[in-house]
Amino acid sequence: MSGPTMPEPDAGVIARRGEIVAALRTMLAEESVIDSPVSLKPYESDGLTAYHQLPLVVVLPETVEEVSTVLKYCQANGVKVVPRGAGTSLSGGALPLADAVLMSMMKFNRVLDIDFDNRCAVVQPGVTNLGITKAVEHAGFYYAPDPSSQIACSIGGNVAENSGGVHCLKYGLTTNNVLGVEMVLMTGEVVRLGGKHLDAEGYDLLGLVIGSEGLLGVVTEVTVRILKSPETARALLVGFNSSEAAGKTVAEVIAAGIIPGGMEMMDRPAILAAEDFVKVGYPLDAEALLIVELDGPPVEVDILIEEVEAIARSNGATTLKVSGSDAERMAFWAGRKAAFPAVGRISPDYYCMDGTIPRKALPQVLTGMKELSEHYELECANVFHAGDGNLHPLILYDANNPGELERAENFGADILRLCVKVGGVLTGEHGVGVEKRDLMPEMFDEVDLAHQMRVKCAFDDGQLLNPGKVFPKLHRCAELGRMHIHRGEIPFADLPRF
Ligand SMILES: Cc1cc2nc3c(=O)[nH]c(=O)nc-3n(C[C@H](O)[C@H](O)[C@H](O)COP(=O)(O)OP(=O)(O)OC[C@H]3O[C@@H](n4cnc5c(N)ncnc54)[C@H](O)[C@@H]3O)c2cc1C
Repeated sequence: MSGPTMPEPDAGVIARRGEIVAALRTMLAEESVIDSPVSLKPYESDGLTAYHQLPLVVVLPETVEEVSTVLKYCQANGVKVVPRGAGTSLSGGALPLADAVLMSMMKFNRVLDIDFDNRCAVVQPGVTNLGITKAVEHAGFYYAPDPSSQIACSIGGNVAENSGGVHCLKYGLTTNNVLGVEMVLMTGEVVRLGGKHLDAEGYDLLGLVIGSEGLLGVVTEVTVRILKSPETARALLVGFNSSEAAGKTVAEVIAAGIIPGGMEMMDRPAILAAEDFVKVGYPLDAEALLIVELDGPPVEVDILIEEVEAIARSNGATTLKVSGSDAERMAFWAGRKAAFPAVGRISPDYYCMDGTIPRKALPQVLTGMKELSEHYELECANVFHAGDGNLHPLILYDANNPGELERAENFGADILRLCVKVGGVLTGEHGVGVEKRDLMPEMFDEVDLAHQMRVKCAFDDGQLLNPGKVFPKLHRCAELGRMHIHRGEIPFADLPRF
């Protein structure tokens, strides 16, 4: 195992591997249980590729009953389970454990119901994010949250990570676009939260489940809101000679009461990498680039374009283009959407961070990141969901150089500390996973953490579902409330807690 400290594998479970695999084979089709080392290899990592670990065994259930039977068996036999969608998580949320069953949900790949009258669709969790839009676009509808990974990532993964994208500034994150889920608990019980209706009775358990990173249950069905595609959309591509000027433009657009469909920012290293990759005419002399998209009825869009243009010019825009066609608008976005692979071409490895700050703190954080870049002697390219204050610094490193991965990780951790210091949070949309797990005490005190763990215990008191993720240390559910945790250091550290 490379990477962070994970729960000590349960030697007893590993010794019983043959018996566990045989039992799983009685519950699932032959091809739905994968246990040969070669076939397990593709599952050893998710999008956080620096860390990898072969799972005990992989299962690919096809029905809710199969999910329930497997979870009930694992609960009864003290076997851990890691749920997995498409494996694109950038925070190691789907990182396997040596003593855990990895449950892939990718056979749950059907659209079950499209209800245009109620403006929603019911889908299985393995349907890709883009697959939902593809299923409804013939009638002029779409699913709004659009992570850059939308061609590959699953809606189940989106629910678990509360994923976002370019259009979430105006249309909300996953949590604002999911109306209901069906979920199987570790006990095998099947629960339904929410549904086609707009509000649910009782506690907002749906809100709790969205963003819970596979720690509370395995989602087997998702009801999503679908929206009518906007009548028109146009975009501005604006270059500035400083990130401060671009940041000020963002703040003034929002202050003017304009909520763009998307408002993204890239710094110079990201602009150069993206332009070299997609060649769509990004201004190579700009220090910062803004892409602002306005959508709605044509008359409204025309007026808003003029207003944003005026704000950008008053902040010293050095280049300004307005898309004249849909093809040109898509070309403006092409570089931003391909920013990650573009950066992948200029550096052997990169480490993508995900912090969120109050918009006004952007200049301060950018200066801080520049200083950290010099301190750690590592380059950093930046793309931002500027309207949301969600930063994606991409730290460039070469894993073949001894110590460079560790330096990149420390650099990333310092960026997140900086985000928290200016009033922001550790993650915007990629989740905590294992990547930011040990930074949780920077953000939450012992009381907060204990309460979050009580929620986990209410759903999974054996701590069998996705352990080692999100919480810096898991405590036995019974001892909650009697623990003193200071900066992640707990008493009786030698006590096995996972
Ligand atoms: C190139 C690239 C670009 C990206 N861009 C964005 C972006 O713009 N915005 C964004 O938000 N994210 C982005 N991501 C991150 C990632 O795509 C999202 O977090 C996505 O939601 C993960 O979905 P997945 O199906 O791959 O889930 P996985 O990676 O398989 O799993 C992620 C988490 O969800 C849990 N999980 C998965 N399925 C279920 C289920 N059915 N029930 C319970 N838990 C489950 C897993 O246990 C894990 O904790 C990007 C990733 C890449 C590689």
